[in-house]
Formats: sequence, structure tokens, C-alpha cells
Amino acid sequence: MITVPAYVRAEVADGGPAGPWHHRQVVSAEERARRRQLRDAYKHAERTARAALMPLDKGELDDLVKFVDARVVAEGCDHTRRFTVQWAAEHQVSLDRLVEGLEEFDGYCDCEVVMNCDPDQIYG
Ligand SMILES: [Zn+2]
Repeated sequence: MITVPAYVRAEVADGGPAGPWHHRQVVSAEERARRRQLRDAYKHAERTARAALMPLDKGELDDLVKFVDARVVAEGCDHTRRFTVQWAAEHQVSLDRLVEGLEEFDGYCDCEVVMNCDPDQIYG
């Protein structure tokens, strides 16, 4: 079922113009606020769904990123996840699931884990 917005119904009743070509001008402040709210809710749901792929909690991911960052700064990134692997082994974290989670956020090597897997961005 198609729900016709109130402003369209009002205009049709008035005999005034109503159609997609006219929507731009008649979108009310309430409608804009409602759309913004839907968009925010969608973004929030999307972030939550992606964060669920990360097998770490925010504190653990923060610990991992700090660990890897310090080593990448000291020794450089060799385009593998050697420091990530080391952290996972030391913390008894399943590497398969961790890699899957990191790749969801484009963490394909140690320096990308540091750059792309920011806990604040992933968990909000
Ligand atoms: Zn790298």
C-alpha cells in the first residue's frame, strides 16, 4: 500500500499541483526532519550490523590497534598482518574470525588495520 504524504493529499484537495516535480518546493521542515531521522536510523543500523562482524569488543580492538600501531611505527608494515597475528595469538583470539572482521573494514595489512579499523568509528 502506498501512503500518500499529508501535504500531497492537502494539495490534491486544493486542486493544486502534486507530483514528484513539485515535491522539492513543498517538503516541510517536519518532513525534512523525519527523513533525516530515517537516514540516521539507517546509518546506525548499518554500523551496528558491520560492527557485529568484529569478534572483539571496543576495548579489545583499541588494544589491538595500539599494539599494531606501535610496531608498525617501529618496524614498518611489510604488507602482511604479522603484528595482528601476533596480538591474536597472545590474546587467544580466533584469527579466522578476526581477519574476517578486520577485512570488513579494509584492514588487509597491519598499517591498514591501524588506519581503517578505528574503534571509535566502528563502534561509535
Ligand atoms: Zn600495510
